[in-house]
Amino acid sequence: MTTRLLSDDWRARVNTVYVRYWLANKANRSLVKITDKKKQAAAWSRNYKELCVTSRLLNAELAKIKRPEFGNAALEIAKPLDGEPTRWRLKGKPGVGYITNPEASPMFRTLVFLKYGVTFRELVCELERSPKAFDKWKRVHAAYHKMRWGDGSLDTIKLKFNFTHFKIMVQGLDFGLKGLNEFELERCLDEICPCSQKHSRHSLKKLRAHIIKACRSLRVRNMRSTTVGA
Ligand SMILES: [Zn+2]
Repeated sequence: MTTRLLSDDWRARVNTVYVRYWLANKANRSLVKITDKKKQAAAWSRNYKELCVTSRLLNAELAKIKRPEFGNAALEIAKPLDGEPTRWRLKGKPGVGYITNPEASPMFRTLVFLKYGVTFRELVCELERSPKAFDKWKRVHAAYHKMRWGDGSLDTIKLKFNFTHFKIMVQGLDFGLKGLNEFELERCLDEICPCSQKHSRHSLKKLRAHIIKACRSLRVRNMRSTTVGA
């Protein structure tokens, strides 16, 4: 007879596709440990297929959620200023890559949020009001530069929210993470999180509360106009 730990109940309450997607991410992250280049390339090829499959399945699962509470977090974080053209409206030649202004990139805007917990729109408004905000602006640029020209990892940059934990948490809230108790949450992330660290249930509980609070208010906070003199 096997004994099931109560904290393993998360398996029945978290979407299985979400779990499979993050296990594929975790497997991908661990490939750097394979020292034999041929074996590493073969493992990468196998895992890439699983990542593609699970990524498509995850989008399909997301479409099934009638009112995702946190599904628009990434869009709100990168939301353009009033009147600012968006990348997807750019009219260029098909098949041509266009160099992008870093400040216009979703990654730069994600860094604004991960570093200060505010959206791009909010930080730009702060720049208009206070010269001191320029220090924040410069620090986001420094973080972007480190990510672009350093080791390419966001996990080594000092941020308010760790990139991997923010991503796995915000994506998982609508897939069952929101309803887990702290023991289940810890067990779940110990198993699926690509950071491969042992997690602290107290820290995760706090992080989840912070992320829920920050992301729930994104839409309302972003409704503030960035138009002057209209
Ligand atoms: Zn982790």
